[in-house]
Amino acid sequence: MRIAVLAERGAGESRVALTPETAKKFIALGADVAVEEGAGVSASITDEAYRDAGAEVATASKVVDGADIVLGVQAPDVALLAGAKPGAWVAATFDPFRETARVEAYAKAGLEALSMEFMPRITRAQSMDVLSSQSNLAGYKAVLTAANVYGRAFPMMMTAAGTVQAAKVFVMGVGVAGLQAIATAKRLGAQVSATDVRSATKEQIMSLGAKPVFVEDVAGIEGEGSGGYATEMSEEYQKAQAELVSGHIAKQDIVITTALIPGRDAPRLISDAQIASMKPGSVIFDLAVAQGGNVEGSQPDQAVEKHGVKIIGYSNTAGHLAADASALFARNLYNFLSAFWDEEAKRPVLDEEIGNAVRLTQGGKIVHERLTTQ
Ligand code: NAD
Repeated sequence: MRIAVLAERGAGESRVALTPETAKKFIALGADVAVEEGAGVSASITDEAYRDAGAEVATASKVVDGADIVLGVQAPDVALLAGAKPGAWVAATFDPFRETARVEAYAKAGLEALSMEFMPRITRAQSMDVLSSQSNLAGYKAVLTAANVYGRAFPMMMTAAGTVQAAKVFVMGVGVAGLQAIATAKRLGAQVSATDVRSATKEQIMSLGAKPVFVEDVAGIEGEGSGGYATEMSEEYQKAQAELVSGHIAKQDIVITTALIPGRDAPRLISDAQIASMKPGSVIFDLAVAQGGNVEGSQPDQAVEKHGVKIIGYSNTAGHLAADASALFARNLYNFLSAFWDEEAKRPVLDEEIGNAVRLTQGGKIVHERLTTQ
């Protein structure tokens, strides 16, 4: 049973899917672990640390040669996996709705693609959920980055020279990233408010000491779809929300947007007119910028200035905390594979619920119902 890990090749990808800690744990289960030279460098992990953990460190082709399972943060190009065993598993993020050519290539190559984004949101899979672990860090980093760009302080400060007012921070979308953004902004001393389309988040916002901003009187606004994800809102709701939020945004110093709808482009939450209503010097961090953006005009990895407002967003926010993001990502992968470890087979054997949820390709075909029924 050979587990292989390649250096990430995606532009700007700083994370790695294995840490010395998880290498040791896989080896303790009876697996051989091989990792490409330099794979951990941008996450502050040396080749030496992998070797000390018992992993083999070698070139990409040697690492993959005879692999049963390949781990990645982003799924590697199929060309790199030529030496893997027939039917080898690749557990990574696949961005399956956008990267359809890659999924097809995996099917054609006879590989079994396991998409970590499709991990079901059930209690026993929480420790395997890379979207949650990475979103949590992203929510934190978004607030710190916005605070850094903002030309004023976050907390109220009463000094001999006068009082500095607390910054007003508004978080739009209160999933995992949004909750962490609220908590981080509170810790920095800001006045925090938040909104979401799922009414269940109201209590969560209040429990963090922030103010909920919600449309109350429009029928059919409950946006909770299956698995706790948001569904797309009715036009009527979107209009009412936009009106309420417009008035609120105009008074904010910092806005953090986090709204995503799985498999679709991110919903547009902030228009150019709303940006224009904000005070010069305000900052918007668009956490959804890589999925098309919540904010009109936001650009991945570029600081855009419109109407005196700075609009920022990273294509890979968690990657800006590469060491922690890698540690959590690697643990998610270990928790996933070890939960299904079959002592006799000395390899994981997935059960139906989670197997069917994450498996995109098998036996030369695309098998996932969300991809075959589209
Ligand atoms: P997400 O990243 O899919 O979306 C971020 C937030 O944006 C969500 O709260 C969503 O409701 C909100 N949103 C979408 N459209 C919006 C709009 N037009 N306006 C305002 N907000 C909008 O969300 P997430 O972080 O993946 O979390 C979604 C839910 O799933 C949460 O309740 C979370 O606690 C839950 N969850 C459960 C598990 C588990 O049980 N294993 C794991 C992760 C998350």
